[in-house]
Amino acid sequence: MRTTCAYCGVGCGILATPTGERSADIKGDPDHPANAGKLCSKGTHLGETIGLEGRLLTPMIGRRTASWDAALGLVAKRFRETIAQHGPNSVAFYVSGQLLTEDYYVANKLMKGFIGAANIDTNSRLCMASAVAGHIRAFGEDIVPASYNDLDAADLIVLVGSNAAWCHPIVYQRIRARCDAGAKLVVIDPRRTETADEADLHLSIRPGTDVALMNGLLAWCRDAGVVDQAYLARHVATPDDFWDRCEGGSDLWSVARVCDVPPQELRRFFELFAATPKTVTMFSQGVNQSLAGTDQVNAIINLHLATGRIGKPGAAPFSITGQPNAMGGREVGGLASSLAAHMDFTPANVARVGRFWAAPNMATRPGLKAVDLFRELGQGRIKAIWIMATNPAVSMPDAGRVREALADCPFVVVSDVVDTTDTSVHAHVRLPAAAWGEKDGTVTNSDRTVSRQRAFMAAPGEARPDWWIVTQVARRMGWKTAFPYDRPAEIWREHCRLSAYENDGARLFALPSHAAKGNAEYDAMAPFRWGGTPFSDGRFPTPDGRARLIPVAQKPVAAPLGKWPMTLNTGRYRDHWHTMTRTGLSPKLARHREEPLVEIHPDDASACGIVDGNLARVTTPQGSSLFRATVVTSQRAGEVFVPIHWTDRTATGGRAGRLPRPLADPVSGQPGFKSTPARIDRV
Ligand code: SF4
Repeated sequence: MRTTCAYCGVGCGILATPTGERSADIKGDPDHPANAGKLCSKGTHLGETIGLEGRLLTPMIGRRTASWDAALGLVAKRFRETIAQHGPNSVAFYVSGQLLTEDYYVANKLMKGFIGAANIDTNSRLCMASAVAGHIRAFGEDIVPASYNDLDAADLIVLVGSNAAWCHPIVYQRIRARCDAGAKLVVIDPRRTETADEADLHLSIRPGTDVALMNGLLAWCRDAGVVDQAYLARHVATPDDFWDRCEGGSDLWSVARVCDVPPQELRRFFELFAATPKTVTMFSQGVNQSLAGTDQVNAIINLHLATGRIGKPGAAPFSITGQPNAMGGREVGGLASSLAAHMDFTPANVARVGRFWAAPNMATRPGLKAVDLFRELGQGRIKAIWIMATNPAVSMPDAGRVREALADCPFVVVSDVVDTTDTSVHAHVRLPAAAWGEKDGTVTNSDRTVSRQRAFMAAPGEARPDWWIVTQVARRMGWKTAFPYDRPAEIWREHCRLSAYENDGARLFALPSHAAKGNAEYDAMAPFRWGGTPFSDGRFPTPDGRARLIPVAQKPVAAPLGKWPMTLNTGRYRDHWHTMTRTGLSPKLARHREEPLVEIHPDDASACGIVDGNLARVTTPQGSSLFRATVVTSQRAGEVFVPIHWTDRTATGGRAGRLPRPLADPVSGQPGFKSTPARIDRV
């Protein structure tokens, strides 16, 4: 059976052949454009994770098993009552980039068209909301202007805030193949990661100085005559004071001082970039998960617009997403800040979607983004929440407060494949969801290729697909005819019709001709890319058809001091995924890193009396947790790194979620996980 990997935004195609009731042979799909038959360690070992260990198999009300009818009826009744008593903004959904597009679509439709609020946000907020906001500011719409094919055509690949060798391994293999053919690789990352180790140049910048670096490069390009004035004149709106407001200038020494890198290395990068028209700048969480994430994204896009390196083969800014369906969620409006089909909440769009859905209660303004949503939950303003396929009690910043908020919430629903998580222990109702390999739908990967996920085993017990669960609740809340779906193909077709909906003289998206046809076409759907090659004609989806240069300035970087002399950074390990509910089932994956380690520079270790293997306590203003120390020169002095995966349920220490502050980028609402004030003490 042809399907797609359950993990990351690379979106690799998989051939899954059942070898027993709960086992399958997993191979890469040689015909899938994302991976051409290759798989990384996580994809390869998916077969070890499809057993029934730890699965939730029946609906639960409190500690008792319940029928679907009783559980769904209770969810619908409590949401209806809460809305009647406190209004639609007193309820919320918190969903996940693990959901399929069809699941996302019905949850979004229920909340924004029928409940009448926009309080549906997703854990993708933690992953790429700054890229979304940066795209909208620059292009007028959230469009990724690159494909993986651009990597094959690039002469220079700049990776910013990305350990692709671990986090997007199959894309990284493609990058390496291009470098073997002569392209250069520059990695910009405070840490010397496995990716940085293999780069032609690694700039180990001070965390949070990306804007200074990119603005310095932009000024260098202007002084070197590399800015494409003809492209700017034809295709880009440039504010009169743009160059003045992008503070910094091209003075190598001042940029090097701010970024804390050797000036000669900076010069090498600037000269290489200026001399290489075919450049792809690929960025990930090191850029997005920052309190200035949107500005950092726009600083990168400014460079590509100003040099005309966009809409051409091998030349583009490229946001690579973490999750398998972060892009599908963006398309259907899974973020509280968007409506559906990439539309925002202008009155015309609200009216258009309202007509299409025949919606009785359209939300008219954006809802609560994740950090604000859980803050309002803690303050008692959200009185009923439904969490689908995610574990915010571990993954949200200041996760300790999130737990307290969930414990105090009058009504918590969790639909998940897993029986017990740090989040589901607070649920009043738990709903068993079908897992990867058991459900059908579509996902959209980082370069906007839409692929099918297909069922190749029966769902166990009473597990059901998420779209079915949401549909059943919507019907019980009184909206039977608006939620008529019996299979995901029907939802897909409605999503396609809405995306291409013509009204008021506006056509939203052109769709491939096969996208909205019948069930057989849906079942047989081959991977395809939304939107062809964006911006190849130099036209952007803004009212005047021009892109926007966005003036951005480097914000002051707080110097570590007093009680908090260190800066804490968090991230992923190669063989684990999120909170390990799936990868934790594979003994082979567990072997790569058996426990959570805090990485610390030798100078800091010695100052704290820590030697390799000691237990050390990492403390921040939000909380503290124990880690085993590993003393490494790949870590900058003054900064420590811990992995995100371990939880209260999987370890006695190593709980990184307790440590970051609940602060977010003011434009995108994406939390900043990369620079939390911290201290470290030997235990
Ligand atoms: Fe799965 Fe990502 Fe690995 Fe591909 S690179 S096999 S999508 S985890």
